[in-house]
Amino acid sequence: MALSDDLRDLYQQVILDHSKSPRNHGQLTDCVHVHGDNPTCGDEIDMYVKFNDEGGIADIKFDGQGCAISQASASMMTIKVKGSRRDKAMAMLKDFRSVVTGEGSVQDEDALGELILLEGVQKFPQRVKCAMLGWRALEQAMQESAKES
Ligand code: ZN
Repeated sequence: MALSDDLRDLYQQVILDHSKSPRNHGQLTDCVHVHGDNPTCGDEIDMYVKFNDEGGIADIKFDGQGCAISQASASMMTIKVKGSRRDKAMAMLKDFRSVVTGEGSVQDEDALGELILLEGVQKFPQRVKCAMLGWRALEQAMQESAKES
């Protein structure tokens, strides 16, 4: 299904805004650091995540380079998951994966906010990898933090 013109404009504005001025951009020390890349597109992401004692996300920053979708998706993700409990962050991850792959059902669309705009990438399998890059890095960081405790 084609996006309406309004949605397409909004999508472009949001992607452009976040890729030009990514939020939570930078590095953290004393944290879990995960590097992710997407060789088919040339995207690279370094994700820095600080977990609190309960495994929730106390702080998160990223840097990297690549296409607008990879950077914008990571930027929007950090806003949504920062300060989240672990189970909440996992639920968003699962929902976002459903949004961009079109597989499975989305449990809490409201929690994703602007990220829903990325559902247009469903039609482009290469772009799904771009949109998921930062999320896969977050997933890996959460797995590593679980191992440590
Ligand atoms: Zn890309």
